[in-house]
Amino acid sequence: MKMVMPTLFFGHGNPMYALLRNRYTEIWQTLGETLPRPKSILVISAHWFIPETAVTAMVQPRTIHDFGGFPKALYEVRYPCPGDPQLARRVAKLLAPLPVREDEAWGLDHGAWSVLKHLYPDADIPVIQLSIDSRSDGRFHYELAQRLAPLRDEGVLILGSGNIVHHLGVMLWEETAAPYDWAVRFDQKVRAAILAGEHAALTALNAMDADGRRAVPTPEHYLPLLYVLGLQRSEDKVSFPVSGIDLGSISMTTVQIGDSVP
Ligand code: ZN
Repeated sequence: MKMVMPTLFFGHGNPMYALLRNRYTEIWQTLGETLPRPKSILVISAHWFIPETAVTAMVQPRTIHDFGGFPKALYEVRYPCPGDPQLARRVAKLLAPLPVREDEAWGLDHGAWSVLKHLYPDADIPVIQLSIDSRSDGRFHYELAQRLAPLRDEGVLILGSGNIVHHLGVMLWEETAAPYDWAVRFDQKVRAAILAGEHAALTALNAMDADGRRAVPTPEHYLPLLYVLGLQRSEDKVSFPVSGIDLGSISMTTVQIGDSVP
């Protein structure tokens, strides 16, 4: 039987989780052990949100510490995986005639490496990133992802990294913080819509209700979810390996499309 890679959206949350073991990172680690081993990984991270579509094409991506005010140990984290210039060209070809810039300057941002460090701690699988075009709407991103569908048959693990609920302005820096009601409601609504296959509603960011507008004050952490949904096939199972609202207003929900065991 031909193997079809699953595709996952990760709620990445606090960058410090790159260094910690907790109920989220333990499941990330288990996923790394149970998902079919990919040939390469393509990450769509909330933290590469720029006014164009670009793909990292360097041989050795650098680890980017794109945050401020964290302990020194976090700035010392490296994720020294190789890049995959050939896959970058393949992505550009699949997306043609859309202009896709082959980028030599970015690397891996913390949306990618804070999760990958737990999934694949040996950093021995090549990784590339695809930017999120900040000028475009949800429909554009969903349809762009659909054109990447053949990669699932080519051993490529496509990961979205963001957060379904991501409101830093009201975040509570306490581990035991109770989640906001609107955060819980929106996370549940999104899960229900994913299970019901209501992709059109999920891509309509400008039609979100009051909970959605609070949960998604800016689009960059939500949009990576649409890439994973755009890659869904009718036969795919849907599961949520990680659940929880962290720090009051950050959803750690992971969405898995497709099976762990092929
Ligand atoms: Zn983030």
